Amino acid sequence: MKIRKRLRVSYILMLLVPMVLIMLTGAMFRDQYENGSDWIEFPKGFLSELYSIIAADPDSLLESGTLEELSRLSGFDGINIAVYQAEQETATFPSISRHSHGRHLTSSWKFYFSDGTSGQLSVFVYDRSMIKGFFPLGGLFFLFVVAALILTNGVLSYFVAGSILKPLSALKAAAHRIKNEDLDSPIVYEGKDEFAGLCSAFEEMRLRLKSSVLEQVKTEENRKELIASISHDLKTPITTIKGYVEGIKDGIADSPEKIEKYIDTVYAKSIMMDELIDSLFLFSKLDLNKVQFNFQNVDLSMFLSDICDEMRFDYPELEISLDAGSGAEVKADRMHLHRVISNLIDNAVKYRSEKKPGVEIKLSRAESFAVIELRDNGKGIAADEFSHIFDHFYRADPARTTTEEGSGLGLAISKYIIEAHGGSIKAEGQPGLGTKITFTLRIAL
Ligand code: ATP
Ligand code: MG
Repeated sequence: MKIRKRLRVSYILMLLVPMVLIMLTGAMFRDQYENGSDWIEFPKGFLSELYSIIAADPDSLLESGTLEELSRLSGFDGINIAVYQAEQETATFPSISRHSHGRHLTSSWKFYFSDGTSGQLSVFVYDRSMIKGFFPLGGLFFLFVVAALILTNGVLSYFVAGSILKPLSALKAAAHRIKNEDLDSPIVYEGKDEFAGLCSAFEEMRLRLKSSVLEQVKTEENRKELIASISHDLKTPITTIKGYVEGIKDGIADSPEKIEKYIDTVYAKSIMMDELIDSLFLFSKLDLNKVQFNFQNVDLSMFLSDICDEMRFDYPELEISLDAGSGAEVKADRMHLHRVISNLIDNAVKYRSEKKPGVEIKLSRAESFAVIELRDNGKGIAADEFSHIFDHFYRADPARTTTEEGSGLGLAISKYIIEAHGGSIKAEGQPGLGTKITFTLRIAL
C-alpha cells in the first residue's frame, strides 16, 4: 500500500474506531443503567430485600407498605419509588408524589408480575447531588474514551510508522555500507510504495559508484603500466648508447673504423629515442584530447594513390596496389590520416614473411562511411592478439628486450586518430596468411 493511502486510511480509522468504541461503551453503560445498579449506592439490605421480593412475590410491589419498607431500607430521605405495570405507573411511594416532573431517575429494575405483565421498579431523586454514582461512572466513561483513543492511535501509528521506518532503516544501513566502501551488497526493497523508487535510485547510485571505482582502479593500473613501459623503452637505448660511448672512452674502439661504427650506432639509437619520444608525446596529447584536428574534405582515391607512390619510393621492394572503386570524399585531417596509413604500411613491411612484402588497398563505401582495407602478405597476427595490438606498447613479439622493431605505439595512435574522426578500426587475419586492417571514415556531406 502506498504511504499516502496508508496515511489516509489511518486518519479515517483514527476517527472511526474511537467513535465506534465510544458508542459501544455508551451502550454498555446504558444497559447497566436500565438493569438497575448503583447510580446511587443502595445498602445491601435494600438490594437483597428487593431481589427476594421480585423473585418470590412481585405483586406485593404494588402495595404501598412494601414500597415504604424499601424506601426505609434504602437509607435515603426524599427518594421516590414508582412501580410500573405494563408501562403504567401503578404504585408510588410516597403515594402522592410531590412534583412528579422534578424528579430524576437513578435506577430501575425490570421484572414480571405473576400474571405475566411486565413490571418495572424505578427509584427517583429530587436532588441531583444525591446521585453519587454519576461522577464515578462519568470518570469510568472518560477513561474508556481515553483508552479508546490511545489504543487507536497506538495501533495506527505502528501501522503507518512501520511502513516508513523499515525501509528507512534499510536505506540507512545501505548508506552506511557505502560509506564504508562496501559497494557489493545490493539494496533490495520489495515494497511497492514511494520508497521503492528511492531504493531503486539508491541501488542505481551504488552500481554507478561501483563502476566508477572499478574504472578508476583500471585507469590507475593502466597509468602504472604505461609508466613502466615508457621507462623500459627509454632505458634500453640509453643503456646501449652508454655502452658504446664508454667503449669509445675506454679505448675499446681502437681504430677509426671501429670508432665510426660505434658513433653510427649511438646516432641510430639517438634517432630511435627521438622518434619514440615524438610518438609518446603525440600519444599523450591524443590521450589528453589536446590534439587539434584540422578537418577538410579529402578525396580518398587521390590521397591513397599519393601515399602509394610515396611508399614505393620509401620501400623499393614493396608491391603495393590500390583499388579505389568509385572513390569517396571524406572529412579528415590530412596530416594525421597520413600518419595512420603510413604506420599501417610500415607495419606490413616490418612484420613481413619471407616473401616480398605486398599490400593491397581497397576503398569502398558502406552507408555514410568510406571503408579502407589494407591487406598484407606478412607473418600475420595470432588470434589471441587481435584484442591487444591496439593497446599502447603492445608488441606481439613477447621479447621486449629489443625496441628495434618499434615502440608499440603506432596502432594505439592510429586508433585514437581514427576514432577522433568518428570512425573505427579493426584487424583480422591468420598467422602465416597475412593481416587485414580495416578502418572507416565518415563521408563528407
Ligand atoms: P611503432 O608503430 O610505434 O613503430 P610497432 O609497429 O611495434 O611500433 P604497432 O604499430 O602498434 O607498434 O603494432 C603493434 C604490434 O602489432 C606490433 O608489434 C606487431 O607485433 C603487431 N602487428 C602490427 N601490424 C602487423 C602486421 N601488419 N602484421 C603482423 N603483425 C603486426
Ligand atoms: Mg607500427
